[in-house]
Amino acid sequence: MTPSSSNPAPASPPPRVARVAVAVPLHRLFDYSVPAELPMPAIGARVAVKFSGRRTVAVCVAQNPADAHDRLSPLIEVLDDDNLLGEDLWRLAQWMADYYQHPLGEVIATLLPSAARVPKRLKIVRPECWEICGPAGDLTRAPRQARLYECLLAAGGRLQTELLYEAGFQRSHIVALAARGLIRKAQGVATGSLRASLPVAGRADQLELNPEQALALAKLGAASGFKPALLDGVTGSGKTEVYLRLMEEVLKLGRQVLVLVPEIALTPQTLSRFEDRFGKAAVLHSNLTDRARLQVWLRARAGEVGILIGTRSAVLSPFADLGLIVVDEEHDASFKQSEGLRYSARDVAVKRAQNLDIPLILGSATPSFESLHNARSGRYQHLRLTERAGRANMPTYRLLDIRGHSLQDGFSDTLVRNIERHLEAGGQVLVFLNRRGFAPALLCGHCGWQAECAACERRMTMHRKPPCLICHHCGRRADLPDECPDCRHQTLIAVGLGTQRSEAFLSERFPEVPVYRIDRDTVRSQRRMEERLAAIHSGERAILVGTQMLAKGHHFPDVSLVAVINADGGFMSPDFRAPERTAQLIVQVAGRAGRAERPGEVLIQTYQPDSPQLRALIEEGYGAFAQRELAGREAADLPPYQPIALVRAESGDADLARSWLESIRSQLGKDLECFGPAPALIPRVADRWRFQLMVGATTRAVLHRGLHPLLAVGNGPRNLRWSLDIDPYDTF
Ligand code: ADP
Ligand code: ZN
Ligand code: ZN
Repeated sequence: MTPSSSNPAPASPPPRVARVAVAVPLHRLFDYSVPAELPMPAIGARVAVKFSGRRTVAVCVAQNPADAHDRLSPLIEVLDDDNLLGEDLWRLAQWMADYYQHPLGEVIATLLPSAARVPKRLKIVRPECWEICGPAGDLTRAPRQARLYECLLAAGGRLQTELLYEAGFQRSHIVALAARGLIRKAQGVATGSLRASLPVAGRADQLELNPEQALALAKLGAASGFKPALLDGVTGSGKTEVYLRLMEEVLKLGRQVLVLVPEIALTPQTLSRFEDRFGKAAVLHSNLTDRARLQVWLRARAGEVGILIGTRSAVLSPFADLGLIVVDEEHDASFKQSEGLRYSARDVAVKRAQNLDIPLILGSATPSFESLHNARSGRYQHLRLTERAGRANMPTYRLLDIRGHSLQDGFSDTLVRNIERHLEAGGQVLVFLNRRGFAPALLCGHCGWQAECAACERRMTMHRKPPCLICHHCGRRADLPDECPDCRHQTLIAVGLGTQRSEAFLSERFPEVPVYRIDRDTVRSQRRMEERLAAIHSGERAILVGTQMLAKGHHFPDVSLVAVINADGGFMSPDFRAPERTAQLIVQVAGRAGRAERPGEVLIQTYQPDSPQLRALIEEGYGAFAQRELAGREAADLPPYQPIALVRAESGDADLARSWLESIRSQLGKDLECFGPAPALIPRVADRWRFQLMVGATTRAVLHRGLHPLLAVGNGPRNLRWSLDIDPYDTF
C-alpha cells in the first residue's frame, strides 16, 4: 500500500450517477448523472428520465456505480424520497427478474400500479370528512341540519362526506351547518384501516371447529415463521373457517394479511364472509380504476389496510408488516400470468412468505400436483380436512356408460330421467359442459364446407344468442349464413355441443323449470349474473347450465344433482396437465352439489367407463388419482419432478418463427433437453404462426444456466415476437 499523501489536492466533487431500470425488454440498466440541484435518488425511488426522446419513469437501482460511463444525460426529477417498493418487494423484484429471466425494469413496472408509472409524486388521498366544532344550540327551525348534527355526534363527532350522502344528507345541509360554525371540514381516516379490520367481537366464536380444523389451526400458528402449509380439504370441509381463525390471530398481533383468490367477481360470497367477520377489507381486482388501485396500494404500504383480498397481481402489493398469506383455490389457473412477466402468484407468494419468514396457507380441495408433491416430500406441511363441516355429506359419483346410446343434444335418456327425478324431488340440477356457444362447428351436409376463421384456420363456434359465428381463438365474428356459401344448399348443420345448445334442449324438455346459463357470455353483465344467482339461491326448482365458471367458489346449497355431459375430452388432450385440470374441474363442479342438507349425486357421461383415470378419480378420489398421475409425470421427467420452460415465437412468417427457434435451440446450454420447435396446438391465431420450443432440465439450476444465452437476444427479428415462460401452465 502506498502511504496516503498528507496533503491531498482538493479534488473536484466526484460525478454523481444514478443507475436506473427502465421498462424495456432488454437485460440491461441505464446510467444518468444526477444534477447538483437534485438529491441523489434512494435505491428503489422512481425518477423521471429522458429515454428514447421521451420523458419516462425509471427506478434507481444503484448509486454511483464504479463502472459508470461519463458524459451521461441528466436525471430530470426525483419522484420518491425513499424506496417505493420497500425492502420486501424490492427483494422480491430481484428474485422475479432472476427466476423468470425477465428484465428488471419490466419486473418493476409490473409491480407498480399503472398510476405510479407516470412521472408524478404519489400521496394517499384521505377522504373528505366533517367534524363537530361547536355546541348544537337551537336547530329546531332546521330539522335536517339538526339530524345531521345528531348523526355526527352519534358517530363520535366525525364522518366521511361519502357516508353522510349515503345517509341521505345533501351538500346544502352540510354547508349550512358549517356556515353556523358548528361543523368543519377535516381529513378522514381512510376506510378499511387496521382498526376497522379487527374481529367483530363475539362472531368469531360462533362455530366450534371440528377436530380436523382444530388440528390444522394448531399446526399453522400465527407466529410460527415461514411454515408453508397445504390445506388439502374436500369442498365444504371448512377451509375458509380455518383461514379466518388464523387471520384473526395475525390481525390481533397487529400484522397484515394478504388473501389471494382466483376471481372476485365470481366469489362475492367469499368476500362477504371475510367482511362479516372482520369488517371492511381492502379489495384489489381488475375492475378498479387506476386511481382506486393506487390508493389501495399506498394504504397497504402505509399499514392502513389490515386485510387485502385480491386476484393474481395482489401478491405484488406492498405491505408495512405482512404477517400471513393465504392462497385460496391454489390450483386455479388464473394465478399464472400468461403474458408479459409470466409469473405464478402462488409460487411468488411462497417465495415472499419465505423472505418475510411468515406463515403461508395454500388451500384447495384439488391441490395442484406441484403443491401435492411439495407436501408429500415434506417441504410443505400437509393438513387434511377429509369431511364436510356441518351437516352436509360428500356427493356420490356414478358413471353413465353412453357407448351405443343415442344421445339427444348430448343427453342420454338415463341422464334425462335422472334430471327429472331430482327436479321432481324439488332439487336443483347443475349441468356442466366446458364449451360455450351453441355448437363448436357449422358444417354443410351437402358438400362438407365448414365455417372457419380466416385468420386462425380453426372452426368458428356457432352462437344462437345473438345468432353469429365467433372464433374463440381471436374473437373474430361473422354473420350466420342461412345457406352454404360454397354449394348454396340450405343444408347447414350445427355439430357438437355448447352450453347454449344444452340450455335450448333443457328448456324444451323441462318447459316448467327455469334454466339458467352461466358462462363467459352470460356473466359479462355483473347485474344479470347477480339476478341469476339470487334466483338460484331462492332454492326454487331450477336447472343451471354452464362452463367451468360454475366450478368456482359458488355454493349452491339446493343443487342435488351434478351432471357432467362428457368427461372424456379432457383426458385426451396432448397437454400433459390436461388430466390434472380435468380432474380438478370434475371434483370442483361436483363439490357444488349437496352442500347443505340434501345429499348430492354426481353423474358423469362417458364413452370410456373403464378408463383407469376416470375410475381412480371417482372410486378412490382425487388424492389417489393424483398419486397415479404423478407417477406418470415422474417417469416422463415432467414437472413437478423436473422443471421445464417454453420458448414461444410467433410471426406472420411461419418459416421465420421456426428457423428462429432452431437457432435459439442451437445456442442453449448442452445439458438441456429440447423438444421442438413444434407448432403450437393452435398453430395460427389472428394471422400469426405460432411455434414453441420446450426445454427441460434435471434441476432448476441447470435449466436456469442453460437458458442464459436468451438474456442477450433482445427483441429478436422485427416481424417476430418471442417470449420465455418458466414453469409454463399451458404447454400447447
Ligand atoms: P371450504 O372453504 O372448505 O369450501 P367452508 O369454510 O366454506 O368450506 O365451509 C363450508 C360450510 O360449513 C360453511 O357454511 C361454513 O360456515 C360451515 N362450517 C365450517 N366450519 C364449520 C364447523 N366447524 N362447524 C359447523 N359448520 C362449519
Ligand atoms: Zn355446401
Ligand atoms: Zn380466429
